[in-house]
Amino acid sequence: VLDADFFRRWLTAAAVCVDREAGRLTELDSAIGDADHGSNLQRGFAAVTAVLEKEAPQTPGAVLTLAGRQLISTVGGASGPLYGTLLRRTGKALGEDAEVTPGRFAEALRAGVAAVAQLGGAKAGDKTMLDALEPAVAALGDTTASFAAASEAAERGALATVPMQARKGRASYLGERSIGHQDPGATSSALLITTLAEVSS
Ligand code: ADP
Ligand code: MG
Ligand code: MG
Repeated sequence: VLDADFFRRWLTAAAVCVDREAGRLTELDSAIGDADHGSNLQRGFAAVTAVLEKEAPQTPGAVLTLAGRQLISTVGGASGPLYGTLLRRTGKALGEDAEVTPGRFAEALRAGVAAVAQLGGAKAGDKTMLDALEPAVAALGDTTASFAAASEAAERGALATVPMQARKGRASYLGERSIGHQDPGATSSALLITTLAEVSS
């Protein structure tokens, strides 16, 4: 089972990973966006780590909703409200239980990803974070072993954004010139899911 500490460790490890990969994320965003994706997430996840330490929420749902709120209030770009919604909606779906099964988490994360699609109006193939998140939740099953499959699916999904033309967000302003570059948000989504697999193993 997964408890509040598991989710705190996931998000704290995600902050470390985002810090390490910020340069690459910003570089990807400089090709088809405004070169701030790495710094946006660095600022957001540093704030998440800090608030989780300060408020020490006691349930998985409370950890994720607090983290989501923090991302929304600290990340100015499109990714802040989208990732914030992902975590908030997932946390809300987990309710107030002190421990959740991997299957229950998978179901909650599917609700979170659906909320991202609804908020951003994007669908698979639009060259966004959803191209990594949707395959990840499709691969996520009811054991922590399935986190590894989700991680592989997210990585493949992020790579598959290279030949796509962006239809949402800043990259869509480039039209056909967005083709040939990996989407920064799909790349950071794959990092988050990979971190989940690492923390659970
Ligand atoms: P901004 O584009 O506002 O500078 P970021 O650079 O932090 O924000 O995030 C850009 C990423 O956000 C994109 O690479 C894409 O994956 C994601 N994104 C942008 N718009 C949408 C949308 N409408 N739906 C889903 N994801 C989106
Ligand atoms: Mg940007
Ligand atoms: Mg920006």
